Amino acid sequence: MVNDRSATQVLPYVPARRGGLVLTGAAAPVRCREIRNARPETVVVVDYGSHTRRTATTDAPFGMMSDQGWRHLDLAGLDEVLDGQRDNGASYSVTPTCFIPAADGAGSARVLAAATAQANRLRRQDMVLLLPCSWRWLRRSSVSILAEQIRACRHPVALVMQADGDPLERNQAAEGLRRLCRSCPRLVLWRTDLAAFDAMAHGALGAAVGGSAVLRHGVAPRPDNGGGGHKAYPVVLVRRLLRYHRVATLQDWFAHIAPWTCDCPVCRGAALTRFTDHKADTIAALQHSVCELYALHEELDATLVGDERTGWWRQQLADAWEYHRLLAAQTGTEVSFPKVLQAWRRQSPMALPRAQEQPGHDRAGPS
Ligand SMILES: [Zn+2]
Repeated sequence: MVNDRSATQVLPYVPARRGGLVLTGAAAPVRCREIRNARPETVVVVDYGSHTRRTATTDAPFGMMSDQGWRHLDLAGLDEVLDGQRDNGASYSVTPTCFIPAADGAGSARVLAAATAQANRLRRQDMVLLLPCSWRWLRRSSVSILAEQIRACRHPVALVMQADGDPLERNQAAEGLRRLCRSCPRLVLWRTDLAAFDAMAHGALGAAVGGSAVLRHGVAPRPDNGGGGHKAYPVVLVRRLLRYHRVATLQDWFAHIAPWTCDCPVCRGAALTRFTDHKADTIAALQHSVCELYALHEELDATLVGDERTGWWRQQLADAWEYHRLLAAQTGTEVSFPKVLQAWRRQSPMALPRAQEQPGHDRAGPS
């Protein structure tokens, strides 16, 4: 998932069969058309980012920014916008859903239900319902409501998790996401990081990892969101650690010992500490991260869905644990094992029961 400005830099490193691009930014529709023309086989879709600007209501779960300002979308308007995405060459259309706030009280549950109900009124075969939700929907008290709505949707659902910082560092969130992935067969995780792999290991159909930090989780809506927000300092995916790190952090770690190198097609054996904040380096850092993501995905893709895939992921996490220990020992510094990786090393939870299997929903009544 990249901003329209980065799309052409990333495209050469996106595998034709397994890869694809989700485009954001003002020029995303134009870029979508260009990529469709240049690479007819590549999956490319557009996320208008409406959820970064407005909060959804039961009356208006969908909307988007246009040249004339904010535009609420009724069903006909929504259908028209989805047609427009396809006209621009998008592989499938994505609903411009506004942000769905925390699952406290019945209000936000009604907003979620309104978004699903409206999407279900569209009998299209070419759309995905985007659900940009607060991380609080993943808590034990709420996740079954979210799962019911995703299962009730006639279209695949792309979930965005919003939080200040990493949503999966929040209490119960990592477990909730796993239960959701196990329970909803047509779920895709968007605007995420390495959680893509945990989700796919637990049954998610696919994922879109953000090319920049701001695209690696949902953000609270603000009317002026969607502008620049480019951070100059380079960040790289360190595959051994299953984690994005600032290059400055790597430079601190490897100040006195030989730095880790990378054999991806961009680095070709060069050190991960070499990236500066110059434009060419930030582009190369992004390209490196894309190569490493797809290298990891190639391994996941080679496993069978189920125990083999979760076993592969557990091994990646065990290796990452060892690399964190090794790094701490070699550098003599404190290298903490991230909370989210700890959460992923725990046993996988069961799938959520369906509504009719839950106590209180038994149609036959008490016997
Ligand atoms: Zn590399």
